[in-house]
Amino acid sequence: MPEKFGTGKNKLTRIFQATEEDGSRLDARFSVDQADIILHSRGGAKGQHAAVNADYTKALLLLISSLSRASIPILGAWVDSTTVQSLPLSARSILNQTEGSLSPEQICSLLSTRMKDVRSDPDSSVKGGNSTKRIRIATGFSGSSEDLAIRLGGVAVEGDLRSMERLPADVLRRATPEYIWRAVQEYVQGNVQGDPFGPSTDYDLIANDGQRLRPKAVFGLALSMALGQPIGPRHFTAGGLCFTLLEEAGYKIVPKGGTYEYPDSEISIDREWREGGTKLKSHLKRERAAGLAQAKKAQYRRTHGRLLCEQCGLDPVAHYDAEEAEACIEVHHSATHVSQMADDHKTTLDDLQCLCANCHRLVHKVLGVQKKKA
Ligand SMILES: [Zn+2]
Ligand SMILES: [Zn+2]
Repeated sequence: MPEKFGTGKNKLTRIFQATEEDGSRLDARFSVDQADIILHSRGGAKGQHAAVNADYTKALLLLISSLSRASIPILGAWVDSTTVQSLPLSARSILNQTEGSLSPEQICSLLSTRMKDVRSDPDSSVKGGNSTKRIRIATGFSGSSEDLAIRLGGVAVEGDLRSMERLPADVLRRATPEYIWRAVQEYVQGNVQGDPFGPSTDYDLIANDGQRLRPKAVFGLALSMALGQPIGPRHFTAGGLCFTLLEEAGYKIVPKGGTYEYPDSEISIDREWREGGTKLKSHLKRERAAGLAQAKKAQYRRTHGRLLCEQCGLDPVAHYDAEEAEACIEVHHSATHVSQMADDHKTTLDDLQCLCANCHRLVHKVLGVQKKKA
C-alpha cells in the first residue's frame, strides 16, 4: 500500500490537484476514495479573497474526458456536500449508470444542471442553486486509488508533502526521465537561481555537454516539477533510488574527481546509417544526446498512455504482446528543423517524434534521397 498523506477528518483520502494534459495545474482539487472521485466545490470569491477551486468546471470536463479516454466506466454521480450528506443517495443522485456512457460534454451538462436542484431542504422552492458543488463520481476502476488519481492527471497538493521527512518510493518515481531531462536543461542553461541543495560532497552527474551537476539538486528540481510543489533536501537522500532513477533517465553519475564521456554516438551507427553523410551524423548525434530519448518517451507515455509510432501507428507492446517490444520505438529529431537549425539550437522535446525502427530508417532514407536530388 502506498503511504497516505491525507490530513483532516478522513485520513485515507488524499487530495490531488487537477492538471491539464500539458502539465499546467488547474485551480481545482479532487480526492480519490477507492474507485470514487470526489471533486471539491468551488468557493465563491468574497471581498478580497479569490475563489477557491476556481477552475471547477474546466476540471470536471477534464476528469470526465480522462475517464472516457481511459475507458473507465462511470457508474453514477451524487452531490456530496456536507449539507446534503444526510439525504438518501437517491435524493442527491445526478447521473445514472446508463447516462455514464454519454459524451463527456453531455455528462458535464447533465451534472451541472441537476446539481443545482439538490438541496438539504427538498421542500424549499428556492431556485438557482449553484452548479459547482462537491460531487462524488463512482467509477468501475479496479486498480488502486493512487493509480486512478495518476491516470486523471492528479498531483498531490501542496501541504500534503511539506510535513513529511522522507518521501516514499512511489512518490520519488514520479520524477520520470522527462522531468529529469528538463531539470538538467535548467541547470545547464543556468536558469536556476539558487536552490536549497548544498554542494555535493561525493558524486557528480555528468550532463551531455560534460558539465558536472549536483545529482541531488537535479533530482530535487525534477521532483519539484513533477509534483508541482517545492521539494527540499530533507525529502529524500542522495544515492539509492535517487541515483537509480537519474541513471535510468540516461545520465552517468561518477565519484568526485572521476571522469566520464558519453560514447560517441557514431560507434553505435551501422554502415547504412553512416553513409548518410555528415548531416545525418550530426542529426543522429542530436537524437542520441544523453537522456533525450528517455525524456521524450516518458513525455509521450504521460500524454498518450503508451508508446506508439507517430508515423505508422504501431503499438509495439500490443502488437508483440511483450513489454520489451517498446525497444523498437526510437526518438527522431524532426528533420525539417534540423536542416534549418543552427549548431547552438537547443533541442526541445517538441522537436522530437517517437517512431518505430522501420519508419525511422525510411524517414531518413526519404530525406537522404530528397537531399541528393536537390
Ligand atoms: Zn512506424
Ligand atoms: Zn532521426
